[in-house]
Amino acid sequence: MSQNKKFLYRRILLKISGEVLQGSNNFGIDINSLKRIVKEIKSVVDIGIQVSLVIGSGNLFRGATLSELGLDRVASDHIGILSTIINSVAIRDMINSNLSIRTCLMSAIPINGICEIYNCEQAINLLSNNFVIIFAAGTGNPFFTTDSAACLRAIETKSDIILKGTKVDGVYSKDPEKNSDAILYRKLTYKDVLKKELKVMDLSAFILARDYHLPIRVFNINKPGSLYRIVTNRSEGTIISK
Ligand code: UDP
Repeated sequence: MSQNKKFLYRRILLKISGEVLQGSNNFGIDINSLKRIVKEIKSVVDIGIQVSLVIGSGNLFRGATLSELGLDRVASDHIGILSTIINSVAIRDMINSNLSIRTCLMSAIPINGICEIYNCEQAINLLSNNFVIIFAAGTGNPFFTTDSAACLRAIETKSDIILKGTKVDGVYSKDPEKNSDAILYRKLTYKDVLKKELKVMDLSAFILARDYHLPIRVFNINKPGSLYRIVTNRSEGTIISK
């Protein structure tokens, strides 16, 4: 799809979990992490790659954790959804204040005065004009995650791939933080992931990607230049496809 053959992708959706924004803190937003992520994004926007973003909110609130503490699950997920808007406002501000990049923050639920409401056609138009689009509020519904939102928005906006920026180098055979003998996979099929029960993203999100042939790449967003290496076709992370 790329107009310029040098680049592997023309339009990407970058999913970043809340944990990445938190840096080494226990809660909240670490400004240096935010700056680093924005620098990565700028490096690919500068070469004409169309970028949209979905940000999780594990650094603030997750529905499952709040419901374990005793809140109703729907209310808990609403808090999670609102938290993704907080993170999205922060990343938009960081992009706007540091860079000459135009942004649009679209939310799945209306928040007048802060975000635009999600509109697929408008998002595609803006992406074509090199705006960075931030999709906030997940799918807008409880019982989903931002992985599902990321796959959904990537498919809707005809993105070439979903890039899942994490704190580890890709998909491993076991948790690399607990097992020193964990193997890093470079290439997997959707079938491999299901058969080996590998942790890539939540199952409903993964099945959506598989059914619509959306490739997924899991990589370490904390490694400087990783995003640039991916779009310029160098080995980085784990690619999952048909
Ligand atoms: N959430 C939701 N519906 C969505 C997306 C997110 O209810 O479509 C809520 C859910 O409570 C979730 C929280 O928002 O736990 C934060 O999203 P996620 O857990 O995906 O964040 P991440 O793990 O990526 O930081």
